[in-house]
Parts: sequence; C-alpha cells; structure tokens
Amino acid sequence: MTDMAEVPEPVEDAREALGLPAGTIRPMVHWGQPIMHRPLAPVTTFDAGLATLAADMFVTMDAADGVGLAANQVGADLAMFVFDLRGPGEPEGAVGVVCNPVLSVPDPDDPDSAGQAWISDSEGCLSLPGAFVPCKRALIASVSGVDHTGAPVSYQGSGLMARCLQHESDHLRGVVFAAHVPGRLRRKLHKQAERYASEFPPDWPVSPREEPLV
Ligand SMILES: [Zn+2]
Repeated sequence: MTDMAEVPEPVEDAREALGLPAGTIRPMVHWGQPIMHRPLAPVTTFDAGLATLAADMFVTMDAADGVGLAANQVGADLAMFVFDLRGPGEPEGAVGVVCNPVLSVPDPDDPDSAGQAWISDSEGCLSLPGAFVPCKRALIASVSGVDHTGAPVSYQGSGLMARCLQHESDHLRGVVFAAHVPGRLRRKLHKQAERYASEFPPDWPVSPREEPLV
C-alpha cells in the first residue's frame, strides 16, 4: 500500500534542467575497446555538437540506470563526463557536465593525508554491465573544470558523489576501476560480467536488458 503523501515528486529531467537539446541513446562501449584504455582529448570547442554529445550521454545513462557516464563510454574521444545523483531520496543530489576535470583527492602516500578517510564500497561500471565488487576510494573528492558551454564548474562531495567523481575522472584518463581492486576481486568482477553478458544485447541500452530466464 502506498500513501499518496509519500509518493516522491518526479525528478526534473537532467537534460532539460541543464538546457541541453534532445538526445539519442547510444550503444555502450565496453572494456577492452581501445578508447576505454587511453587518455581522451581535452575539450577545446564548446559548440552545439558538444551539447548534443552531453545530451546523448544523459539519455544513454538514464536508459542504462547509471549515475555517471564518460564520453568514451559512448565512443567519443573527448574529456567530458556527466552525472546525475538525484533520486527520490536525494532531491538535493547534484547533476552536471564536467569537461577537462581536475580531480582532487588525498594522496594515500602523503603523510599529511593520514587523517583522510578511505572507504571500500560496492562499485560497478556501465561498460562492464552486471558486475560489482568492493573498491577503495577517497571518502571526499572534488573536481573543477568547465561545463559544455565552457563556464567554470566545481563539485565536491562525499560517499557516492565522491566515488562517482573519482570513477568518471578515471575514465577520461583511460583508467577503469578494475585498476583499483586486487587481483582476486578483479577475477570475480570479470566472472560476474561473463555470467550476466547474455542479458545485455550488443547495442544495450538502445535495446533494453533482457529479463533473465528463471
Ligand atoms: Zn565506468
């Protein structure tokens, strides 16, 4: 039973909130494709084409039920990511576009960062769909960069927000999160991905995930 008063307000479409044009869902690029494992080109032109790419990334991320997406995950060689951490329980969650991000996290080898918190929590990637393992990340992170119009932006957060900023900034450097997990968990990650691979059509999320046969 649902109490009407408890039904959350619908979250405004992120693309519209940011003034982006209509977007098209694109197929997800998977780990193993060269563009996932090399640094992306800095964004230098802030035109309608870039806004359309950002819009495509938002609708692709939505279709895939993700909270963050990097440009190489839709096949574009540009250092841009999008994120949307709003939800029924998180109306204040952040949403945005970041180009050419500079990530700030404590350096674990720096004695001055000894008081900083690191947290191991479940992490997954839309480019290795269906697989999740614990990954150690800085509890607090911030990024600065520019948005799709070239205007300066900066975001800071903890928990899932910090994890998302670190995960997406890594993608733009050509780093996937398996690089941050020990070998045993990395093997588990790939086994999980293999197990669920048949549920994801080659053009997912253009075609939706297939319901597993029970
Ligand atoms: Zn990812």
